[in-house]
Amino acid sequence: MIEQHATLSRQAICQLPKAELHLHIEGTLEPQLALALAERNHIALPYASLEELRKQYAFTNLQSFLDLYYQLMGTLKTSEDFRDLMIAYLEHAHDDGVRHAEIFFDPQVHVHNGLDYNMVLDGLLAGMQYGRENFGITSSLILCIVRDMPVEDAHRILDLAAPRADELCGIGLDSAEVGYPPELFDEVFARARAMGLHVVAHAGEEGPSSYVEQALNILHVERIDHGVRAIDDAQVVQQCARDRIGMTSCPLSNRRLQVVDDISKLPLRALLEAGVPVSVHSDDPAYFGGYIADNYQALANIGFSAAELAQFAQHSIETSFIDEHERQTLLKELEQWRAQYVA
Ligand SMILES: [Zn+2]
Repeated sequence: MIEQHATLSRQAICQLPKAELHLHIEGTLEPQLALALAERNHIALPYASLEELRKQYAFTNLQSFLDLYYQLMGTLKTSEDFRDLMIAYLEHAHDDGVRHAEIFFDPQVHVHNGLDYNMVLDGLLAGMQYGRENFGITSSLILCIVRDMPVEDAHRILDLAAPRADELCGIGLDSAEVGYPPELFDEVFARARAMGLHVVAHAGEEGPSSYVEQALNILHVERIDHGVRAIDDAQVVQQCARDRIGMTSCPLSNRRLQVVDDISKLPLRALLEAGVPVSVHSDDPAYFGGYIADNYQALANIGFSAAELAQFAQHSIETSFIDEHERQTLLKELEQWRAQYVA
């Protein structure tokens, strides 16, 4: 059960205008929807009931999570499935005060599952349009390269993505980190930059600070996803602060995958003090027991102040790739929230 911090209500946390910048759409697949999709698509899952499926969520590390994650991704088959998945997420995000979302998807896995890239993209975009019209959330897509698949495979997915690159916002790098340093994807990311895509990468989640340094200086990322281990290298921290490189922290994910055994051990305050635009996000919320407001709540519960939470939200808006007019609108709303809740 989530305790409420004495000075900031759940309602106030949900009203805080924020951008979601670290969210894998496949990681929003709730067990209930996975079972419904399996039935709709006549796929046999080795779980007899919802309860039995829920029991599989006792992860011990990144790999044990990824094993279930990829299995359940196999229940997504049609454009309608992807649309439904996106709408379910955006509805939840709306309740949590998300005003803008930059959403990761893993097309390599879907293509390997025999699906058509354009069908997947169409389904996701249809869900995003529904979210704009019905929840007022703006959103865009970041194509994530799955780093533990071969580099040639990453090039093949860019070949498929290139004709509709203008419908994407950026490129990212995700999945099992250790042993797959960013430098492997130098050429893939150079191609993506030439296609006009924004550039982000997961680095320093399980991997060392040198992976963060490579993401910055070889891939030329504009944001680091996770970046927990950046704190081990003062030069990397300085560079992120100087160049306003966003760092998308996901506290509940980090605890669940045992990146840290307690979220109070995340270097969030040290990064704030160093001037790094660190922000708070949800990663794979269906699997890690918490959407974005739950992550803010977890920080409030361990003593993060309203002013600090507003700072995270401000960074999420400042380091998003939203257009400038919308950015200023959201920053103004944030000032109104501060006037109401920050002493
Ligand atoms: Zn992630």
